[in-house]
Amino acid sequence: MDLRPAEVTSILEKEIESYQGDSDMQSVGTVLTVGDGVARVWGLDDCMMNELLEFPGGVRGVALSLEEDNVGCVLLGDAAKVREGDTVKSTGRIISVPTGPKLLGRVVDALGIPRDGKGPLGTTEEDLMLIEQPAPSVVEREPVHEPMQTGIKAIDSMIPVGRGQRELVIGDRQTGKTAILIDAIIEQAKTGGGDPNNPDQVLCVYVAIGQKQSTVVDIVKRLEAIGAMAYTIVVTASANDEASMQYLAPYAGCTMGERFRNEGRHVLAIYDDIYKQALAYRQVMLLLRRPPGREAFPGDVFNLHSRLLERSAKLAKNAPEINPIYKAGGGSLTAFPVVETQEGDVSAYIPTNVISITDGQIFLDSDLFNSGVRPAVNVGISVSRVGGAAQTNAMKKTAGGLRINLAQYRELQAFAQFGSDLDSATQATLTRGEKLVELLKQGQYVPMAWEDQTMILYAGTSGGLDDLDTALVLPFEKEFLAYMSDVHSEVGEAMRETLKLSDDHKAILDAAITKVKGQVRAS
Ligand code: ATP
Ligand code: MG
Repeated sequence: MDLRPAEVTSILEKEIESYQGDSDMQSVGTVLTVGDGVARVWGLDDCMMNELLEFPGGVRGVALSLEEDNVGCVLLGDAAKVREGDTVKSTGRIISVPTGPKLLGRVVDALGIPRDGKGPLGTTEEDLMLIEQPAPSVVEREPVHEPMQTGIKAIDSMIPVGRGQRELVIGDRQTGKTAILIDAIIEQAKTGGGDPNNPDQVLCVYVAIGQKQSTVVDIVKRLEAIGAMAYTIVVTASANDEASMQYLAPYAGCTMGERFRNEGRHVLAIYDDIYKQALAYRQVMLLLRRPPGREAFPGDVFNLHSRLLERSAKLAKNAPEINPIYKAGGGSLTAFPVVETQEGDVSAYIPTNVISITDGQIFLDSDLFNSGVRPAVNVGISVSRVGGAAQTNAMKKTAGGLRINLAQYRELQAFAQFGSDLDSATQATLTRGEKLVELLKQGQYVPMAWEDQTMILYAGTSGGLDDLDTALVLPFEKEFLAYMSDVHSEVGEAMRETLKLSDDHKAILDAAITKVKGQVRAS
């Protein structure tokens, strides 16, 4: 009898297959080394990238570096419980987080585990989504064309952001980066009355990375008090959490936002901040012995941010026909990543990387902040590359000259000290600039509807405030907006409806400016 090897192998293969089929086989490995929150494991031959691993004592890990004879992974949880020689089980699952409406109003960590003491989320197995998702392809997208109002005068007028855009917020520490983004969340209440079930309501995801826990608590309390938590998810990996959690948090938050985006909703995602995420990633990768590159960051630190930010998009109406993962078309995910700079250096490694990935940046200047110009937006080097298409006609027409006025003002500011020696044109530019700078100041937690912004900016750009004392500009703003909503509410209403400011309404505004100026001077 002659044996045919091919036949034998096929029989053996079949046997092995059926054996695997009816037993719940898992691949098991052994811990080779452990320390500093990372472990190397031998024997997990079919381990996947980003696969969740189970260590003894309920500790979990994520495989981040697959090498020839071992797997490098970061530990999530109490790493002190893991010892050399422990057995490690692979789960066959890529790391995923719960998603869906049950998360709104909750504070969770990078694995979706509640951190607010309000009990379990109550999500099901079907709500789990992988934290790394492919970005929508070119055909599934559509150009940005709807405005994402932030409620900040300086931003909505000169650096408008559209739904689906990625706009970087960059600046030194303590320059009000978080403040403008919290205001942007508060402003979203105007889109759908703060009711998460209203399909027009923009839903928000705030990811806090490497921040102090007390800061996160303050933010959550503030959002709760204003009623903004109803449509917001907070994902937190604070400074005392493992570096691995800080590295994963933005992806987790993005996935939670994408769930809504795929269902046709509009989502605002804030990653505050991704410089700290890069530092956490660097730490993990150095411990895993990945060769360090520039500034000791691993070579793929660019990809770390691009694969996160590429996931924000404005989806096309027909996206569901192209890809069934989209339940409805037309949704969007707008991203506001934050990067902290050192001494205003925007040309450092991580800032330049992120600037090149995003569709524009809002630069916050510590000199402006300290001199009392708050929000401290430096208009000269802030841009929005796509948001202009999303700005309303009324705002575009009114604020069109703002940027150039301010630029001229800055240029001439050096001469301001010569006072009366200046010619009248220079004098006029300086006066206009001074009023506009004052007019763009805005307090915290008072985002302003775009119609109101347009009306008040009209007062500034039309020259209506040139003869008003600079100290009276903000009192004027208050009185003027109150007067417009009490006496001429039709102007704001017409703007909301037509998105335009008509000449008749401009005349009403002109008359109102004169009237309110008189009142403010008299009081
Ligand atoms: P960090 O680098 O610590 O994250 P940050 O850049 O996020 O700081 P914020 O925490 O937002 O800055 O703001 C710093 C301080 O400035 C806070 O105390 C905040 O209350 C104050 N602040 C921010 N914006 C304004 C504003 N428009 N008017 C008045 N105060 C403001
Ligand atoms: Mg901050």
